[in-house]
Amino acid sequence: MIPFNKPYLTGKETEYIADAVATGKISGNGKYTNLCQDFFKAKYGFGKCLLTTSCTDALEMAAILADIQEGDEVIVPSFTFVSTAIAFIRQGAKIIFVDSYHNNPNIDASKIESLITPKTKAIIPVHYAGVACDMDKIMELANKYNLLVIEDAAQAIDSFYIGKDGTKRALGSIGHMAAFSFHETKNIISGEGGMLVVNDNRFEKRSEIIWEKGTNRAEFFRGEVNKYGWVDIGSSFLPSEIIAAFLWAQIENIEDIQQKRKSLWNSYYDQIQGLNTTKITLPIIPDYATNNGHMFYVVCSDFKERTTLIERLKNNGFHAVFHYISLHSSSFYEAKHDGRNLLNTDRFSDCLLRLPLFYELHESDIKKLVSCLNK
Ligand SMILES: *Cc1c(COP(=O)(O)O)cnc(C)c1O
Repeated sequence: MIPFNKPYLTGKETEYIADAVATGKISGNGKYTNLCQDFFKAKYGFGKCLLTTSCTDALEMAAILADIQEGDEVIVPSFTFVSTAIAFIRQGAKIIFVDSYHNNPNIDASKIESLITPKTKAIIPVHYAGVACDMDKIMELANKYNLLVIEDAAQAIDSFYIGKDGTKRALGSIGHMAAFSFHETKNIISGEGGMLVVNDNRFEKRSEIIWEKGTNRAEFFRGEVNKYGWVDIGSSFLPSEIIAAFLWAQIENIEDIQQKRKSLWNSYYDQIQGLNTTKITLPIIPDYATNNGHMFYVVCSDFKERTTLIERLKNNGFHAVFHYISLHSSSFYEAKHDGRNLLNTDRFSDCLLRLPLFYELHESDIKKLVSCLNK
C-alpha cells in the first residue's frame, strides 16, 4: 500500500538529538531552538520567531497577543483545520466563517469586507496547500478597519506572495503575526511542533513572556534584568531542545526536500492534465502565489464520484484521502453559525481528494496512480 504520507528523515535527526542530550541542556530555548529561529528569520525575512510545541499553540499565543476578548469577532475561512478557529474560541471570540473561492479553497477575499463589524478584531487567512491568499487585499482591509492579520501558515513554509508592486515576500512575513506547523504531515517536520512569527514589533516583548509561562525569564537569560518573575499570563508554549534538534536536521535539508516535493507535484499535475478529462479539476495557483509542493489534490465532480475514487485507488494500493469538513457546519459550531450558506466550502468538503505526496514517493508510483485514476 502506498501510504498518503510518510515522514521523511534526513539522517541527522538522532545525531543532533544525541548532541542536545550530551550538552545537558534539554529543556527549551537553547542552542538548537536558537539555530532554528535564526535560520527562519534570516531566510524568510520573518520578524521575531519563537518555536512552539505545535501550530495550534502558536495560534493560541497569537490570540492572547491580539488580546481577543469575549464577544470579539474573528474572521476565519470555513475550509480549514479546527485549530484555526479553536485558538480564538478559547479567548471567547465569535468566529465569522467565510466561503472559499469557487476555484480555490482559500478564503474569498472579496467576501470579507461585508462581514466586518465594530466588533471585528482579526482576520485569519489560511494558505491552503501552501498557496497564498490574496494578501494585498486582506492587508488593505486590515489597514482600513484597524484589524490584525494572523496568517495560518501551517502548510506554507517556503512559499511566497507576489504583490501588486512585484515584490516577492515569504508567507508568514506579511501579517502582523503568523503560525507554522512542523507536524509530521507537513514539509519540514519535528513530529509535533510549530512556530509563532511576530512581525509587528508591538507584540515582540510580550510574545516571549507568554511563551515562558508569563515570566520574563528570556530577558533574564540575556542579562537584561537581574531577576525574573511572574509578570503576565502565559503558558508553557516552548518545545524542548530534543524537538528543536530534530527540526534542525530537517532545516539543513530544506532545499532538497522542497525541490523533491515540487518535482513530484509537477509530475502529478502534468500527467493528470495529459488525461484531458473534465471529470476532475486540477489545483489553481493564482498569479500572486507560488507552489511549495505541500499537497497535491484534485477536485472531483461530486461526493459520490470521490467516494468511488477513494475506494478504487485503495483497491489498487493507493491511500488517497479527503480533507476538511466545513467548520461552519461542524457539530460544535453549527448552532452558533449565522446561517449563511458557504457553498464553495461545502463543495471542497465533498469533492476535494488529496493524493499521496511525500519525499520517498517514486515517479513510477505517480505513473501507476494516474493510470488507475484514468481507468
Ligand atoms: C496542520 C495544521 C494546523 C495544526 O498544526 P499543529 O502543528 O498540528 O497544531 C493548523 N492549521 C492548518 C491549516 C494546518 O494544516
